[in-house]
Amino acid sequence: MEENKTMIKRCFLTGEYVFYATDRAKRPHSFRREPIKTTPRQYCPFCPENSHLTPTPVYNDGVIKIVPNKYPFVHTNEETYGVHDVVIDTADHDERLKDFGSEHILKLMTVLKNRFMELESDEKCSYVQIFKNEGIDAGASQTHSHWQIAALPVVPLKMESLLKVLKGYYDEHKECYFCSLDKGSRIVEENDSFITYLPADGKFPYGMDILPKRHITSIEEFGEKELADFGSILQRSLKRLFVIKPDICYNLCLYSAPKAVKGCEYFHFYTQIIPRIGHMAGFEFSTGCYINSVLPEVGAEELRQAEID
Ligand SMILES: [Zn+2]
Ligand SMILES: [Zn+2]
Repeated sequence: MEENKTMIKRCFLTGEYVFYATDRAKRPHSFRREPIKTTPRQYCPFCPENSHLTPTPVYNDGVIKIVPNKYPFVHTNEETYGVHDVVIDTADHDERLKDFGSEHILKLMTVLKNRFMELESDEKCSYVQIFKNEGIDAGASQTHSHWQIAALPVVPLKMESLLKVLKGYYDEHKECYFCSLDKGSRIVEENDSFITYLPADGKFPYGMDILPKRHITSIEEFGEKELADFGSILQRSLKRLFVIKPDICYNLCLYSAPKAVKGCEYFHFYTQIIPRIGHMAGFEFSTGCYINSVLPEVGAEELRQAEID
């Protein structure tokens, strides 16, 4: 008899259960995946020659452009506040984030930081979320590389409960949870200012977190060197992922403290890279539990071994 290979852990930050079931990765998939359809350049609203298809930019330096989302899920009116931006991060239809040159990536990080600060400065704004969807399985509606920024009048429940958990940890241990984490054998990349690792209780196969080494609570605390180092570690981490999974779709989520607790001792800025491998389905929706087919230690080793430049 084969031994039972399922292991159950509970995610510290969210309380969700994760079932590590490494045999799942060996399942045959009988659905044939269609080749990924891309928006042809001539109809792409994010290409410079089609700029008449998007609203007037709030920022444009010729390479990076910020436009209000044409189909926003929030907007400001008499009763509510909300901003939903699209950051078109390249003028080149086919260029991917992981391949931007070093000046380009630094510029992008600076633009994201500045827009974050601008949105947060509105007194009706409680929270700003920066994220990126790349690929159709990650929810991107355009193939041309872009990010989104949402400025909200409320602090979302996910952040609210995260703050509660992290404050609880700090009160008990007198140290920030992320600062005290032992990343052990799960480190994938490291530079002067940041570290990429797979969380021991990670919910997603090859899911990585990027943490600043310094205790920073928000992207607005990033200095020039940190902006450059963040861009570089993000690209290197993505490149490793693409070596292992060449057609991968992924989400990037950048978590900064809501402005009400900015600079606090218990919250630590972090970024999640979520590779979209497999889909959330009936089990996940009905139980709120996750199935991860790759053990974090194993995933980290594979990512470390991936050969990039
Ligand atoms: Zn385009
Ligand atoms: Zn910390």
